[in-house]
Amino acid sequence: IFITLEGPDGSGKSTITRLLSEYLKEKGQDVVTTREPGGTKISEDIRTIILDSKNTSMSNVTEALLYAASRAQHVSQKIAPAIEEGKIIICDRFVLSSLVYQGIGRGLGVDKIKAINDFAIQGVEPDLILFFDISPEIALKRKTRRNQGDRLEREKLDFHQKVYEGYLSLIEIYEGKIKVIDATKTKENTFEQVRAIVDNLLEK
Ligand code: C5P
Repeated sequence: IFITLEGPDGSGKSTITRLLSEYLKEKGQDVVTTREPGGTKISEDIRTIILDSKNTSMSNVTEALLYAASRAQHVSQKIAPAIEEGKIIICDRFVLSSLVYQGIGRGLGVDKIKAINDFAIQGVEPDLILFFDISPEIALKRKTRRNQGDRLEREKLDFHQKVYEGYLSLIEIYEGKIKVIDATKTKENTFEQVRAIVDNLLEK
């Protein structure tokens, strides 16, 4: 079973990824926890290139192809084998992030980003997408408090607003697979919503 977590920066995905993974392990499930961009040595190396705040001259197209390249390696080396072995994979961000950040946020177009990512993932699609719904104003305040901000300095609020609206506009193309989580509440409340959805999926 392949589960991905999606949402704006600072929406709490990473914390919930950890909590969900601990919860499922306690239930005796075989869990692989991973993230994008990253998850394998090659993919993490590509992540470093993309997120290096010194690489200010990187073109949007280069960035989009690097995300797709990082993902191709991640899928072939880690995600696809884990699915094959019957494990539960919990992945912080996947293709939907690229459609929204590169396709809409950077304006490259959802169709083009989808095409390069279809090539990258070779048919490996998530069974469940958890979308952490929170406006960028609130989410970024959380994140800035934690001071993780190289990139946030460069990406202004209007970019994140576009990203958030992008997410909302794409929910319908994943209809059925995507579940919307109210991420404005406490960590405990957010996790509770996620737990109920995942328990339900596992009982099927
Ligand atoms: O989710 P995480 O904090 O690891 O993402 C790292 C950074 O990469 C974030 O600032 C996010 O905005 C950016 N990102 C992006 N395009 C993607 C995925 C992540 O711009 N496809």
